[in-house]
Amino acid sequence: MEQSDKQALIDPMTGGMGHCQFFKRAKALLKSDRESFAVVAFDIREFSLVNLYFGRTEGNRFLKFIHRSIEEMLSEEELLLRESGDLFYLLLKNRDRGEILKRLGYISKKVDARLIKNKTVAPHLMLRFGVYLPENDSTKVEHMFEYANVTRKYSTGLNDSCFSDHRRTTKVIDDRVMTASLMDAFKNNEFEVFLQPQVSLKNGQIVGAEALARWNHPERGLLAPGQFIGLLEKYHLIHQLDLCVFESVCQLKQKWNHKHYRPCSVSVNLSRQTITIPGIFSHLKDLCDQYEVSPCDIELEITETDVIKDFKLTKCILEKLRGIGFKCAVDDFGDGYSSLSCLKELTVDVIKLDRNFFTGTGEKAELVLEAMTSLLTKMNVQMVAEGVETAEQLKFLRKTTCDLIQGYIFYKPMPVSEFEQLTFVEAVDILP
Ligand code: C2E
Ligand code: CA
Ligand code: CA
Repeated sequence: MEQSDKQALIDPMTGGMGHCQFFKRAKALLKSDRESFAVVAFDIREFSLVNLYFGRTEGNRFLKFIHRSIEEMLSEEELLLRESGDLFYLLLKNRDRGEILKRLGYISKKVDARLIKNKTVAPHLMLRFGVYLPENDSTKVEHMFEYANVTRKYSTGLNDSCFSDHRRTTKVIDDRVMTASLMDAFKNNEFEVFLQPQVSLKNGQIVGAEALARWNHPERGLLAPGQFIGLLEKYHLIHQLDLCVFESVCQLKQKWNHKHYRPCSVSVNLSRQTITIPGIFSHLKDLCDQYEVSPCDIELEITETDVIKDFKLTKCILEKLRGIGFKCAVDDFGDGYSSLSCLKELTVDVIKLDRNFFTGTGEKAELVLEAMTSLLTKMNVQMVAEGVETAEQLKFLRKTTCDLIQGYIFYKPMPVSEFEQLTFVEAVDILP
């Protein structure tokens, strides 16, 4: 028998099962009732330290010890493999999360005891587990172990975070794939600005728009922000998108000015991460200067939830932005719970009323909306009703002092060329 064939059957280092043998038996066991098994991957955090401090021989001895200790506690229908280096795979005939954690905890303790006995750098050498709970579907057995392995990388300890099922693992993998392509997206200019018109109820004309980002993904097509904003925030890249949208809007405004189009305000979303970047204000101002755009032609939206997170800081930021000349808006107003105190303290130009305000109908809802809109009018704050979808909501809004409507009832977000045609060439009156 060839050396590599032997290794496929037996792992020469531990004397345990080799890769092929393990997967052959795992497939046989998982053939009938997948839902009574748990698939586990684990490794030793910073195992290279053992090799470094004590040499490879001691490292190998340590891996053999782990193998032996675990093998002793397995039942007949359970399997163990040292897949490679310090990565181990386990197939447990167990589904109860508490029971599984108990067994994995026991393995951890055994390894710890050995480390303490050897006076090894114990605190660094934790085991990291990932557990995949198979479902009775067509997922390949090899993939189940890979899923457990992915989960291992993101688990935070022996708790809920080491478990995953098919849905959760594919989400993690998908997020990783998307994150990798996000880096290229900026380089390749894959983001595009869409504009959603804001219509005045007075004359049915489009008088403004909100700039909303879209991602032209090379494989997945046009993606809405829900599919990438969260990732950009997680990896602290959202400011890149905000600045990219801001600059595109400056460019647009410059073009519109040159063509002598009628005035049309455009708003840009700024996330909390963006507005707290040092030097951001002068950067925004510089971009305006570069494109010969007056800051008062651009509206900046900050969400109510971001405002609430640090009220004092937001107040200061809004003052600075308004000082430069930008129009400032509080977005998703009414979504949080501190809306009224927010009004008392802050000076803003525009409030974007969250659709919550007009989704509930009835006398009370009407009273609240009426009181809010008349208060904002008295405070000289402009309003935009967002997410208006039905004729009933529109009828409801007509009774108030809110004039601007942004919602599917009139228009969805659209490519810039379409917006320009509608607004400046056709100058449609949308009202019946
Ligand atoms: P948002 O700022 O509240 O933007 C309004 C969202 O409501 C848009 O979703 C718009 O398409 C949607 N919408 C408008 N009218 C209606 C309606 O009548 N019915 C319904 N169901 N939805 C309506 P979109 O474009 O998917 O954007 C989602 C969110 O992503 C935005 O919410 C904003 O928070 C964020 N976002 C988009 N572009 C950017 C950006 O450039 N920077 C940052 N920081 N966030 C952005
Ligand atoms: Ca917005
Ligand atoms: Ca909004």
